[in-house]
Amino acid sequence: MHVGVDVGGTKVLAVELAGEGGAVVVASSAQAPMPGRSASEADVEAAVAGAVLEVAAGRPLSGVGLSAAGLVDRSGARVRFAAHLPWRDAPVRDRLAERIGAPVVLDNDANCAAHAELVAGALRGVSSAVLVTVGTGIGGAVVLDGRVLRGANGMAGEFGHIQVVPDGLACECGLRGCWEQYCSGRALERVTRVALGSHLDGPEVADLARNGHPVAQQAFATVGTWLGVGIAGLVSALDPEMVVVGGGVSVVGDLLLEPARRGLLDALQATSHRKVPPLVATRFGPEAGAVGAALLSAAHS
Ligand SMILES: [Zn+2]
Repeated sequence: MHVGVDVGGTKVLAVELAGEGGAVVVASSAQAPMPGRSASEADVEAAVAGAVLEVAAGRPLSGVGLSAAGLVDRSGARVRFAAHLPWRDAPVRDRLAERIGAPVVLDNDANCAAHAELVAGALRGVSSAVLVTVGTGIGGAVVLDGRVLRGANGMAGEFGHIQVVPDGLACECGLRGCWEQYCSGRALERVTRVALGSHLDGPEVADLARNGHPVAQQAFATVGTWLGVGIAGLVSALDPEMVVVGGGVSVVGDLLLEPARRGLLDALQATSHRKVPPLVATRFGPEAGAVGAALLSAAHS
């Protein structure tokens, strides 16, 4: 069996798939919280291995796909940098393979998500697209001619750290004014905290918004508008057929996507003279990274 595991800023998610082609579904899954901001590389890898072995449940593993929220080198051996994780130039693929006792395939989380959507989701049959995942931060992938664009060093698609506000909010990456400071789970929490004067985490804000709470809905509208503004820049650069949005913050659907569509129209040039690409949700949502990683592992065996 193959297990896909996604490592994000706040949690680890491991999945086992069933079905083939467009019928792929998640058959079982396991989650573990990220072991805190002071966690070491070994702490994170122990959490990853724990989630994988929980899904495997004693069955032999043919391979593991690892979807990591960070810069993965072109060879797929190392995580060079991860703004929300301790990995720095870390040989994660081989260390995890040794820890688990099975071969590991490593890729960036948004690249994995794009692979899942291309094989079995919203991007089936689409040749050019942009994928944006909105979670703890922003992940991104570019699809050209039906393939995920790698870039010279394997690091294409890191949209979250495009500067949108000069001298803006400090980012975990060390820069200021990065897009993900205005459009992410952290941004959602900050906007809500400023408005309510108390801290709620992203899922709590989402629950309030679904129940019609005006402050929570406005927080999603603010973050969604920033999402659309950033996507407008990507559409100008890449002219995609479609834009797909995934990640944990996207689980509220149109509460995020409608303000994003308006933000895209307001910030894109010549909308009366071009086809504005549809902005739609990923099929696999917050599980897309893990699903894509499992598919990549199976394809490599
Ligand atoms: Zn940044």
